[in-house]
Amino acid sequence: MQTSSAIETPTPEIEIPTQAEVLVDSVRTILQAIGEDPDREGLRRTPERVAKAMADLTSGMNQTMADVLNGAIFTQEYDQMVLVKDIEFYSLCEHHLLPFHGKAHIAYLPNGRVVGLSKLPRLLEVYARRLQLQERLTQQVAGAIQEALRPRGVAVMVEAAHFCMMMRGVEKQNSKTVTVALLGEFRDSQLLRSEFFGAVGASRPVYL
Ligand SMILES: [Zn+2]
Repeated sequence: MQTSSAIETPTPEIEIPTQAEVLVDSVRTILQAIGEDPDREGLRRTPERVAKAMADLTSGMNQTMADVLNGAIFTQEYDQMVLVKDIEFYSLCEHHLLPFHGKAHIAYLPNGRVVGLSKLPRLLEVYARRLQLQERLTQQVAGAIQEALRPRGVAVMVEAAHFCMMMRGVEKQNSKTVTVALLGEFRDSQLLRSEFFGAVGASRPVYL
């Protein structure tokens, strides 16, 4: 007599693909969708390469301002503007997944506390390495410094060239987009704004 089906064959565990695997498959799908052969020699490892690059270019999503600034804030009586200028950065525009890159200038007016200077470029990276809008990037950097240091003022200016403009559509090769975030005394004092824009070598935008 056959035993009833008390002994069941174990249901095979459903394998959930990792994020990296999903990314690799998706890139393969994109290659096929644009009419390419993902198996031809030059493209064979492209999905893996793109997946790696995307993970790297969006690695800021797994970081916070605290990861960068914690332990690097010091008590110091210095009440003049601190400015780190011409910080090169690369980011990805969230509308087209194309790069935009340029320079950022970050300034603050200390209120008894300063941050290690190398932390400002690192802070910029946290927000640049994710899908972004230049406007939001500018505000997030300013907001993070405001929150971490409670300074008397923060000024952030970002000048960038966007590949989505340069390579397609309007094809404005040499245009630059400038965004500014001013907080505290930089917002209130025209003199301070002038000092900041003068120091970064920018002609003051007419609306400021
Ligand atoms: Zn774009």
